[in-house]
Amino acid sequence: MLKENYDMVAEKVRGACERSGRNPEEVTIIAVSKTKPLEDVVELSRHGVMDFGENKVQELCSKYEAIENPVRWHLIGHLQTNKVKYIVDKVALIHSVDSLKLAKQISKEAVKKQVTVPVLIQVNVAEEETKFCLESTDEVMELVQETAKLPNISIQGLMTIAPFVDDPEDNRKYFRQLKQLFIDIDKKNFDNVTMKILSMGMTNDYEVAVEEGATMVRVGTGIFGARNYNI
Ligand SMILES: *Cc1c(COP(=O)(O)O)cnc(C)c1O
Repeated sequence: MLKENYDMVAEKVRGACERSGRNPEEVTIIAVSKTKPLEDVVELSRHGVMDFGENKVQELCSKYEAIENPVRWHLIGHLQTNKVKYIVDKVALIHSVDSLKLAKQISKEAVKKQVTVPVLIQVNVAEEETKFCLESTDEVMELVQETAKLPNISIQGLMTIAPFVDDPEDNRKYFRQLKQLFIDIDKKNFDNVTMKILSMGMTNDYEVAVEEGATMVRVGTGIFGARNYNI
């Protein structure tokens, strides 16, 4: 059943690519397995699904330790600086770098473990639009530039979590804004910054996100079903 759900998501991604003249191979589906049992991850990985997302360090680590199949783990949720040391050598990508303090900690731990950690800068697009256009854009630029100077951390793109809305069309403007910022940063040609990953879109709005240029979509409910936080 999980495989059928995954295939349906992949089919919809293909449709969105077709509508927007994109190559479906540009889009990676991250199966967000948070709160779901390891068996679900194992089942999907047996069908060749390689990319899984978690938002808690502890859950990521325990699944990382337990699974035998080689999969790529994505940390997609808020990351506390004191937990960075547990994951720098386990993650394929950290989607949620939202402060210089966090970037510095990732760099420090990555140096210790002699790895280079690929990261995305998380942008809050859902602030008031005027604010996003002026202040926040500058803040993001500054965070990108300062993070890029740190050793053993490599900026690969941007990530956003759009608001939860009934009509996914309501988020199109935010996806468009993030894509534009992505292009603007790319044009600056900062050293140690590559704008190649645009992580946006969840179960509710990933088709719109793909139409607007997402290269990674993070889909949980649409693959694994509803989450139960009370168990
Ligand atoms: C939980 C989560 C998702 C997946 O949400 P769904 O609506 O279940 O697809 C995506 N991104 C982040 C950052 C999340 O925390």
